[in-house]
Amino acid sequence: MSDALNYQPDCLFCKIVKGEIPSNKVYEDDLCYAFYDIDPQAPTHFLVIPKAHIGSCGEITRGNSALVGRLFEVISQVTRDLGLTDFRVVSNCGAQAGQSVPHLHFHVLAGRDMTWPPG
Ligand code: AMP
Ligand code: ZN
Repeated sequence: MSDALNYQPDCLFCKIVKGEIPSNKVYEDDLCYAFYDIDPQAPTHFLVIPKAHIGSCGEITRGNSALVGRLFEVISQVTRDLGLTDFRVVSNCGAQAGQSVPHLHFHVLAGRDMTWPPG
């Protein structure tokens, strides 16, 4: 992996991108990676991440926001491929919001009724 991906040796999701930790891949391209959550909170639950390390939604800038657009293209493509028409996209930013892995990720959850507001 090149330095351009800002690899963080202590980051779980950087290690998943690099293949140092196994994952159940749903989708991959040059910039994006998607894999099933190890602790699913819905019948379908996968995560969409940039290969480059970005800490959270709080670190999105003009310089990297095109990549975030790509992540949403992936969400749209993968949900279509899986035949999902109803799903929820969630990104927790910061510990109080429930973020446990400090590498930007979008949860995609589907297959059950969702409540609002989220807890
Ligand atoms: P968050 O708590 O919003 O930061 O989301 C992190 C997600 O990563 C949680 O839903 C975890 O279940 C998931 N997770 C942690 N370790 C792994 C792993 N090795 N493979 C897949 N998902 C993981
Ligand atoms: Zn990372």
